Amino acid sequence: MAANILLVEDEPAIQELIAVNLEHAGHHVIRARDAEGALGIVRNALPDLLLIDWMLPGMSGVSLARQLRQEERTREIPIILLTARSAEADKVAGLEAGADDYVTKPFSPKELLARIKAVLRRRAPQMTDDPIEVNGLRLDPATRRVYGNSRPLELGPTEFRLLHFLMTHPERVHSRTQLLDQVWGDHVFVEERTVDVHIRRLRKALEPSAHDRLVETVRGSGYRLTASPV
Ligand code: CA
Repeated sequence: MAANILLVEDEPAIQELIAVNLEHAGHHVIRARDAEGALGIVRNALPDLLLIDWMLPGMSGVSLARQLRQEERTREIPIILLTARSAEADKVAGLEAGADDYVTKPFSPKELLARIKAVLRRRAPQMTDDPIEVNGLRLDPATRRVYGNSRPLELGPTEFRLLHFLMTHPERVHSRTQLLDQVWGDHVFVEERTVDVHIRRLRKALEPSAHDRLVETVRGSGYRLTASPV
């Protein structure tokens, strides 16, 4: 379960220590030293998770978390706050700002990695290797295989990621912009039409077991995977 993690920490030694540990565990780390820098990075491409230090120069980590939660595009990104504060009131303030979890310094790398894994499992199930099944359509991230009624189906890598995201977020309508952010990791450099092309390929790949019916077009809004197609 490798994730793109945006680490927002102003103290170079701590930033380095955390980044090295995350990279050692297979994650890709993007670094920012303050909230403004983090917002610039997020504007270009959404990370899978943010690790934000509470005490930052300029805008605080809590304010950054709150701002990300207020914006439609960044509302769903999992956030873990890092802090030297352990008071209960601070913890409540952090969670109210929208953080998914809260890790108190000093922490062990093992603890931090376990928290990251737990948050991703809860908030971004498409990041995990758990197999998933919807109405006879089964996707196994570990082996990268898809089966329709136990028959293997052939999917390209982008169609696989797209299906994985849709299956882990069923019944919800996703706009093309949201799909670009979630599946391509970028909404700036890829055209929205690209989404339509890959949806078409995905449906074609699902045709042999008639699971293409699960991928619905919601006119004017985007796409949805449903367990009970009309
Ligand atoms: Ca700090």
